[in-house]
Amino acid sequence: MEPSERPAAAPNRPEKRSGILLGRPFGVPLRLSPSWFVLAIVVTLLYGDAVAFRCPELTAVAAYAVGFGFVVSLAVSVLLHELGHALTYRRYGIGVRAITLDIYGGFTEPEREEPRPSVEAIVALAGPAVSGVLGGIGVLLIWVVPTTTVAAELAFVFAVSNIIVAIFNALPGLPLDGGRALRALVWAATKDPHLGSRIAGWIGRAVAVGLVAFTVLAWASGVIGPFGLIFSGMVAMMLWFGASHAIRAGAAGARLRTMSVRRLTRPAVWVPRQTSLAEALRRGEQVAPGADLAIVVVDTADRPIAVVHDEAAAAVPDERRPWVSVESVARTLSAGSRMPADLSGEAVLDAVRANPATEYLVLSDEEVIGVLRRDDLARHLMSRGSA
Ligand SMILES: [Zn+2]
Repeated sequence: MEPSERPAAAPNRPEKRSGILLGRPFGVPLRLSPSWFVLAIVVTLLYGDAVAFRCPELTAVAAYAVGFGFVVSLAVSVLLHELGHALTYRRYGIGVRAITLDIYGGFTEPEREEPRPSVEAIVALAGPAVSGVLGGIGVLLIWVVPTTTVAAELAFVFAVSNIIVAIFNALPGLPLDGGRALRALVWAATKDPHLGSRIAGWIGRAVAVGLVAFTVLAWASGVIGPFGLIFSGMVAMMLWFGASHAIRAGAAGARLRTMSVRRLTRPAVWVPRQTSLAEALRRGEQVAPGADLAIVVVDTADRPIAVVHDEAAAAVPDERRPWVSVESVARTLSAGSRMPADLSGEAVLDAVRANPATEYLVLSDEEVIGVLRRDDLARHLMSRGSA
């Protein structure tokens, strides 16, 4: 079983600083994750045993040395694959935080997301392209190196492992490289990066299921042993979670894209500051029975000064409501808590970040048309189902 490679499924994943710093090839920090040693030991032992069985003239130490040689050749192959990604990122002015080798192969962490679909596609395909070239070099070596030698054995596994890594990573499902390329293609065709994430994410789930089926078949027919079964299962799980993450991120991104202030605005009922909570609620029922209203408290000049906080109002027992003023369960509006009704998409979040508040007066042509609650925004973004 060959280790696969784990590409950066989530460009915004938090920095990982675990692992031993091995060096800085081409200026890119190269880290070795502790999990890589598990892979190295298992592969050395399994492959060493296979070599000892096939070449009885070798001592046990020599057979395991060949096994370890295979591990080193795998690590170099994965490193070159990742350098393919990393140096392509660099070529487009995107810095690389680190390349990490781990139990699944390795991954490259860019400093930011790809700005254009063409860049994402080229960066994604650079890795499998490098692996394909390495596989070709391995095939040439098989021709050159005398057969039935240790060198011939290593050339063979070098060729096979790189070809498998190239083909597997080129499958068009996220979080694999081919999935990123497919997302970029859909992004370029539809101008919507989120649709691409969802499509490539679903294909990624299908690849994970297919890998499980393939592994069980390979195990049942004796091609792989229990370690291969476990490792392949781990890769399938990693794929499934990466694909699911892509689907969720794509859905959230689509909801963000279609989010509009006007659609999420609650109509408001205006009441003077001395009004009792009971009276304000009654007026709200009169204006729009059963609707999600906002109660806006106004001063003597009819200027909005506060918005009733739903949870605080609900916490007041019925019998106390005639004696509680709306003002005591309202939150004061700050000068900046206003939002144009026509705002939509990412600009809504930018406006919230610029002026953090729990409620905003929504303005259309200088006129207040209702209230936008931050909770309603969050609920819209978190809601499941279609956008
Ligand atoms: Zn890759």
